[in-house]
Amino acid sequence: MNRTMTALAALSLSLPALAKTPPPPSAPSLEQVADEALTGDTAAWDFVEGITTEVGARQAGTEAEARGRAWAAAWLKARGFRNVAIEPYMMPTWVPGEPGRAEIVSPFPQSLAVAPLGDSASTGPEGITAEVVMFRSVAELQAAPAGSLAGKIAFVSNAMTRTQDGSQYGFAGPTRWVASGIAASKGAVATVIKSVGTDDHRNPHTGGTSFPQGVKPTPAGALSNPDAANLERMFKRAGGKPITMKLVLTPRSLGQTESGNVVGEIVGRNPSLPPVLIACHLDSWWLGTGAVDDGAGCGIIAAAALNVARAGAPLRTVRVLFAGAEETGLWGSKAYSAAHIDEPMAVGLESDFGADRIWRFDSNFRETNPALHRTIAGAVARFGVSSGTETAGGGADIQIVKDQKGAIIDLQQDGTRYFDLHHTPDDTLDKIDPVQLRQNVAVWTQVVGILAAQETAILTGTPVPAAPPVMQGKK
Ligand SMILES: [Zn+2]
Repeated sequence: MNRTMTALAALSLSLPALAKTPPPPSAPSLEQVADEALTGDTAAWDFVEGITTEVGARQAGTEAEARGRAWAAAWLKARGFRNVAIEPYMMPTWVPGEPGRAEIVSPFPQSLAVAPLGDSASTGPEGITAEVVMFRSVAELQAAPAGSLAGKIAFVSNAMTRTQDGSQYGFAGPTRWVASGIAASKGAVATVIKSVGTDDHRNPHTGGTSFPQGVKPTPAGALSNPDAANLERMFKRAGGKPITMKLVLTPRSLGQTESGNVVGEIVGRNPSLPPVLIACHLDSWWLGTGAVDDGAGCGIIAAAALNVARAGAPLRTVRVLFAGAEETGLWGSKAYSAAHIDEPMAVGLESDFGADRIWRFDSNFRETNPALHRTIAGAVARFGVSSGTETAGGGADIQIVKDQKGAIIDLQQDGTRYFDLHHTPDDTLDKIDPVQLRQNVAVWTQVVGILAAQETAILTGTPVPAAPPVMQGKK
C-alpha cells in the first residue's frame, strides 16, 4: 500500500496544476472509499436485490428485459448518475416456449429434465420421437460420417469440471455452441447435450447454440447433468438395443423486437477526455432471476462508480454501460459499438462472471504502460488480488473498446461456483455472498478511481494527443 501511495503521490505531482480540482477537504481519499466498500458497501446489493425482486428474469428482446431497463435507468437516476439514457436497437428475438420435456420411450421409460438451448428450433407440440445416438465429445460427433445421423437424435455427453479461472468453459462450451449445428449437418433431427455446467442438480443449463449457414436449425436441448449421466448408463445397459427418446421443445422466434442499452455517467472534471467505460449486461436467461449472471456485475460496477464520485469528481468521466441482449448474441454490445465507434474510450472493463471474489488483475498494457499496470497491481494487492501475466481480452460487452483497439482490464473472479449456477433456475439472489460481493466493489472502486485520474493515454502512458483544455467545473 505504501508503494501505491507513493506512486499516486508522484503521479499527482506531475499533473499540470490546471487539471486539479482538489476534492473538498472533507472528501475521503480513493483508498479510504475502497476500504470502506470492503465492509460497508450497500449499493451493489441494493441493485441486484432490487432488480431480481422487482423484475426477475430478463430474457433478451422481451418485455421483461424492457422492464429491467426502465428499472435500472430509474435506479441510476435516483443514485445521482448523470446523462442516464436508454439507447434502443432492434434484434431478432427468440423465446423458450413451454418448459421442455424429454422422455425415454424404450427400453427404460422415464422422463429426463431438459431445457431448450437459445436459437433451438421447435419440435412442435407433438414432439419428435427418434433413436438416440451417443457421442462422448464434439470431436467424436465431428468424426461421424455424413448422413449417418439421418432421422436420429444426437446426444453429446461431455463433462465439465470446476476451475477457479473458469477455463473449463473453453473445453466444455463447444458442446453447447456447435454440437447441434454439426449434428444437424449430418442429418440429425434434434440434439441433446449434457449441460455445460458443474452442478449435480436436476437443472439443465441453457445458453446459446448455433447453426452454420445453410444448415436448417433443429431442436436442441440440454439435459441436466444427473439426467445425462442416467442416459449414459442406459447406453451401457441397453447392450446395443436402440434407445428411443421423445423430445418436446417449443421455442419460437418473435422476429425483430426492441432491446436497448442503459447508460449513465459520473461526469469527470474534464468531460472531453475519453471516458472510462465499465460494463455488465442487463439481460438474463428465463430460468433464474439473473442474479449471478449478471445482475451482480451491474451492481458492482455501478457501486464502484458511486464510490469513485465520493472521493471527489474524477478527472475523466466514468461511464456505466448496462448492455442488453448479451446472452442471445451480444446484440447490445454490438449496437453500442456501432453507435459510438467514433467516440474514443480510454479503457474498458466488464464484470460478468458472478459475484465471487476477485483474485487476479490482468491488463493489455502490462508492457506498453508498465507504470500504470504496476500502480494498479500494487493498489489492489491489499484486497487479495494478484497481478496476472495474461493479456486481458475483455468481456463481451466492451466490444467498442476491442473495435477501437483500446486499453482493457480484466478483474478475474473466482469461478469455482459459477458454472454450478450459470444459466439455470439456481441463478438467484441467495447464491450471492455479500462479503465477496463487497470485495468486488472495493477492488473495482480502487481500479476505476485510478483509471479515471489518468492524465495520459491508458494503453500507452503517453500524453493524450491534443488534449483539449480542461473544463473546470463543467458538469
Ligand atoms: Zn453473463
